[in-house]
Amino acid sequence: MVIFAFRIIVLALTGWFVLPANAASRTEHVFIISIDGGASWAIQNAKMPVLKQVAREGACTWNAETLIPQTLPGHTSMLTGVGTDQHKIVWNSWIPSNGVVTFPTVFTAAKAAGLSTAMFAAKEKFQHLVQPGTVDYFDYSRAAAVVVLKSDSGGPDVRKEGVVSSRAVATNAAAYIVSHKPNLCFIHLADPDTVGHAFGWESSEERKAFAETDAAVEVILKAVRRAGIAKRSVILISADHGGHGKGHSKGTPQDMIIPWIASGQGVKKHFSIPESVHNSDVAATALWLLGVQPLRPLEGVPVVSAFKGGRN
Ligand SMILES: [Zn+2]
Ligand SMILES: [Zn+2]
Repeated sequence: MVIFAFRIIVLALTGWFVLPANAASRTEHVFIISIDGGASWAIQNAKMPVLKQVAREGACTWNAETLIPQTLPGHTSMLTGVGTDQHKIVWNSWIPSNGVVTFPTVFTAAKAAGLSTAMFAAKEKFQHLVQPGTVDYFDYSRAAAVVVLKSDSGGPDVRKEGVVSSRAVATNAAAYIVSHKPNLCFIHLADPDTVGHAFGWESSEERKAFAETDAAVEVILKAVRRAGIAKRSVILISADHGGHGKGHSKGTPQDMIIPWIASGQGVKKHFSIPESVHNSDVAATALWLLGVQPLRPLEGVPVVSAFKGGRN
């Protein structure tokens, strides 16, 4: 009896009492990269060799659509799998008294399944997406943030917001990916949104911001390889909205149409995703890949056609 109890303690200390891997999981690690303001039309005009190679060699549609062309509500749909009617994040700034999202996020479900999670955000308001105990590591580097003036509509209704550069967010995420190898990791790259509001989505400055963001994507991809988990990982790249002029909230095709790219384990090669895809499908796909049941029914669906053994 004493020996039995001792063995239990030893097993517990050596980490044998972890939850069993979910039988239905298709990969161990999912990295969600969101390009804030990543309009399909602007990306296609920009110098983004890394992202374009990933899109070309993996599965991609340039005709995905956001449910709502605003950063916080749009990202909430991306990370919950439902629209604003259900997730109820209808504001777009950091308002601590509003509390956190009540609809379970991908992190909530992943954590409930015993997986590790991390989130790297360029904007403070992403704290609204962190339900207590669901994100092992949340990174918003206030010290590295610069305050910018911006308007979602591109009009005179400007407000101040702190934002961290894509390069800095990617550098922080890369270090964490190498050291912690999270199962589910979200990385938010916001240079195109910041520069789009200041100079316009059609500007040469904006093309530079997309190029910088491409370098940030490369930093993340290299970190996944350096961590030794590339073969057991899927990278999903999408956006919260596009943009035109100096805004993105008017609902034009330039504002609404975004890329949806998958790369990595089990992803079809050189595959053009035929079905209509929304940003809310990111959440559904991430959970499907990790073999995690959503905690509530989602509106988004896994983009199964992008994966071997999937439809099409
Ligand atoms: Zn945005
Ligand atoms: Zn914006």
